[in-house]
Amino acid sequence: AKEQGRNNLQFYTADMNDWIQRRAILEKGMRQALEHDEFTLYYQPKVDINTGKITGSEALIRWRHPQLGMISPQEFIPLAEETGLIVSVGEWVLRTACKQSLEWQRLGLPKMGVSVNLSPRQFQQANLVEIVSKILKETGLAPEYLELEITETIAMYNESYVIAKLKALKDLGVKIAIDDFGTGYSSLSYLKKFPFHTLKIDKSFIQDIEEGSDDNKIITTIIAMAHNLKVNVIAEGVETAEQLQFLQQQQCNEVQGYLFSKPLSVEEFYKAFSEIQEA
Ligand code: C2E
Ligand code: CA
Ligand code: CA
Ligand code: CA
Repeated sequence: AKEQGRNNLQFYTADMNDWIQRRAILEKGMRQALEHDEFTLYYQPKVDINTGKITGSEALIRWRHPQLGMISPQEFIPLAEETGLIVSVGEWVLRTACKQSLEWQRLGLPKMGVSVNLSPRQFQQANLVEIVSKILKETGLAPEYLELEITETIAMYNESYVIAKLKALKDLGVKIAIDDFGTGYSSLSYLKKFPFHTLKIDKSFIQDIEEGSDDNKIITTIIAMAHNLKVNVIAEGVETAEQLQFLQQQQCNEVQGYLFSKPLSVEEFYKAFSEIQEA
């Protein structure tokens, strides 16, 4: 048993070294990734639950590492948060998404919003409002077409600070969505003090939807409360017709997920959109 324990320890140590090494490579690589044009944005359509029409998209970052291949944002975004690189990466995301949205308008697609994820550290950035404002001016995108997705972890920060910041963003004319709703510690009754436009139900709840299950009550409650607060409610991670049907019954406003489309490259998005609109 003792022998085995030692082997296990060796195994974990090797594993740990790999992990530390990969982290170091990613961290170093991230510093150059912007200059080397290794980041790209994919766009996942958001769909009106009643009409089936595309209402907008969510921009999702991808990193094509020259040696390691595609790296998931689930791996590098937390690292970018820790190192502070999220500030420059986040600014790149905002600018790129705004430019793309405008470009699609120029190409003749119907005007629609684009949603950009903001990490907690970006939200805390002292000059966030100025940066957003600067990018809107630079690109020429009308503010109402930009939505910022913020997780409910911001509710951890000083309440008046959060309210003031959200209000300043709202005054710019951009929209605010509360992302991953239901996974954090905040409640909707708490969040209602914050100015926001959209509530996004976390995909973990959607994936739990079952015929006649008690779990569904959480979703029912969230949707009813959102309607009560007069905010738009969207479900993410919709994969099956059953989930869609349930959300339709509950009068969820919008849906997003593999049932309709995975996140698409710029070219794929344009193509898919043209085909859908023609059909
Ligand atoms: P998120 O904001 O909750 O984004 C939704 C994630 O669910 C995306 O993963 C998306 O590809 C995935 N997804 C979409 N539809 C389905 C579905 O039907 N089923 C399942 N199982 N998954 C679905 P992705 O693109 O890997 O992004 C992961 C997370 O990384 C995001 O979660 C977000 O927190 C973060 N992230 C992505 N892009 C950015 C960015 O530009 N800035 C920041 N700060 N964070 C980002
Ligand atoms: Ca999101
Ligand atoms: Ca989410
Ligand atoms: Ca998330």
